[in-house]
Amino acid sequence: MLFGRAKKNPIKIADKGVVEWKYTTCGYCSTGCSIEVGVNEDGVAVSSRGIGGAHVNQGKLCLKGIFEHELFKSSGRGSHPMVRAKRFLPWHAVSWDEALDKVSGEIKRIQSTYGRDAFAIVSTGQIMTEEFYTLGKLARGVIGTNNYDGNTTLCMSSAVSGYKRSFGSDGPPGCYDDFSHTECLMAFGSNLPEQHPVIYWRLKTALEQRKFPVIVVDPRVTMFAQMADVHLAIQPGTDVVLLNAMAHVILKEGLHDQAYIDAHCSDFETFRALVEQYDPDTAAPICGIDADTIRNVARTYAKAGAAMSIWTMGINQSTHGSDGVVGINNLNLITGNIGKPGGTSLSITGQSNAMGTREWSSASGLPGYRALEKEKDREEIAKYWNIDPEFLPKKRGLFQTDIFPAIETGQIKGLWIVATNPMTSMANTSRIRKILEKLDFLVVQDAYQDVETTQYADVYLPAAIWAEKEGCFTNTERRVNLTRNAQTPYAESKPDLWIFTQLAKRFEQAKNMKWPEKAEGVFDELRELSKGRFLDYSGMSYDKIEQNRGIQWPCNAETAPDGSPRLYVDGVFNHEDGRAKLIPLPFVDNNERPDGEFPFWLNTGRVVEHFHTRTRTGKIGNLNKFSPTPYMEINPDAGARLGIRHGEYVRVTSRRGDAVVMAQFTQRVPPNMVFIPFHFHDCVNRLTLGLLDPHSRQPAYKQSACRVERIEEQSAAARRNHDARAF
Ligand code: SF4
Repeated sequence: MLFGRAKKNPIKIADKGVVEWKYTTCGYCSTGCSIEVGVNEDGVAVSSRGIGGAHVNQGKLCLKGIFEHELFKSSGRGSHPMVRAKRFLPWHAVSWDEALDKVSGEIKRIQSTYGRDAFAIVSTGQIMTEEFYTLGKLARGVIGTNNYDGNTTLCMSSAVSGYKRSFGSDGPPGCYDDFSHTECLMAFGSNLPEQHPVIYWRLKTALEQRKFPVIVVDPRVTMFAQMADVHLAIQPGTDVVLLNAMAHVILKEGLHDQAYIDAHCSDFETFRALVEQYDPDTAAPICGIDADTIRNVARTYAKAGAAMSIWTMGINQSTHGSDGVVGINNLNLITGNIGKPGGTSLSITGQSNAMGTREWSSASGLPGYRALEKEKDREEIAKYWNIDPEFLPKKRGLFQTDIFPAIETGQIKGLWIVATNPMTSMANTSRIRKILEKLDFLVVQDAYQDVETTQYADVYLPAAIWAEKEGCFTNTERRVNLTRNAQTPYAESKPDLWIFTQLAKRFEQAKNMKWPEKAEGVFDELRELSKGRFLDYSGMSYDKIEQNRGIQWPCNAETAPDGSPRLYVDGVFNHEDGRAKLIPLPFVDNNERPDGEFPFWLNTGRVVEHFHTRTRTGKIGNLNKFSPTPYMEINPDAGARLGIRHGEYVRVTSRRGDAVVMAQFTQRVPPNMVFIPFHFHDCVNRLTLGLLDPHSRQPAYKQSACRVERIEEQSAAARRNHDARAF
């Protein structure tokens, strides 16, 4: 195809020989873009394109989605199950039967010797919902360990915890369409243009049609902050103080929605008494935003006909993460901004199916937002699975971030890791390395054998990836979307669903349970188990989902096929009294802070080219080419003070360890802060402290202290970095 300059150097688009386009949903982030994968006459995926008319992305993709078909044959994929006699000895390829016999044998050995909870499972936000549900059935209903969690504790558990505390249930109440109705948007700790480019495009489109104020709260001058009407460069970890002060102004000046509070909220007076203490003059020196700006922002938000808040890791990854979410919910409750077009608290989720694991994996409870703590919920699920209700624990076990310390103390002896990479993603990775070495048995199940954590494994199970399988993801706005099978799995790799069901068959308890082998059969179980519940899937089917380009739950026979764009439209919440709770949030400053020895705030985050630990994007030429090197943003004044030049390598040191990165001078960070992307192995998470939020157990990746020194041997540092990142 030719277009553009017809006579001089016309642009040529290569004909890739696509003979069929297969419907899928992007497997990277939680935006949930609909993608078609083009396959040629040999059945090989050769192209990806956004689907015009899809609600979410309307034909758009970010650069990760554009190259997604290259994943199927990218380097590092695992081709065969592998075992080895002893850790760090060479691997041997074995049959699936041998590998699964070994895994089930080790689980039984550890559990019979040390107890059921001595074997732990840590999963992901990346596999399909049907796979999550089946893994949960296996973990809770067959293996019976209570130490089972997902890596979503590293990114979303503060949002989950905050929603539950405020509204009585998890579940983001709003949708992307709210951008088209809101009169004020406030974004907390979210660099939307880089993290969720297509959601940002939705926001920009809404702003082009109708201007409304955008307020960005972030310690860095991010890309998002640069386009905002107001940027609040907050002190790290003090969002709760800002939110309390805004509530103070709103209540003091009578800008709140008393009728909404009276009808739908509880504990208003206790809340009012607490925020009374947070006048803007008291809050300003703590959160670093001047008092008049706090007043102006509070007035702008409260006076808008509809106002909405979005947030990402800047709120969640904090020792006050759950409180930050509750603070945002408080703000929206007192201004009557829940459940109406343009008025919402919308957590922008991270991984493609972080929502699916929250809904169906049983990691924090039981399927379909059921709780282990509720007898009725345990009985319903036990009956459906055909097991004794007494087999299920009566409360949740350890979170992921507590499972690792429990290995350190010897309480947990065996671990199964599914599609996550703690050797790069956890805080303080040198401690994680020692913890993994301490295990009696580690099995890693991942599409990539070269994922760093596999170095510490005894067994490796190669999983199929994304559209080598079939199943659903739920996106940030509760939209359930489908991935059709576009490719056969690579080499001997198998869909996670197959691996879970085959492993289940090796346990006596599983013999009287149903294990559908097709994803659509599992989806039928989800539909049955969700009927009449808050997250009702009963009106959905694979065909309806594909035809509609995704359906938002709740969706029953009456609301099918469109589902429900918003929750709590009737003002009835999921606490027992039907009301939302206004929760007072006293601020306790418990972060590590810069001092004489470690004078910089260390901030971490993402770049647009990479996803999480680069397990996938580090292998895709066009993504890795644009961002191949771990770097650090540092203010030019700070750099000059330290004798560093732009582009030189520096050593960054914290109380946990050190890392070598390239210095990039930019005014995006203030002189007392540095920022390092979290994607690279042996990099920023050697430095992070990761104190935990008391409610969500999510680590505070973004608030610790470090120092920076120039490296004398620049060429050696450059060589080391190049060798370490080359694939
Ligand atoms: Fe995929 Fe997210 Fe990019 Fe959409 S915005 S194409 S879902 S990575």
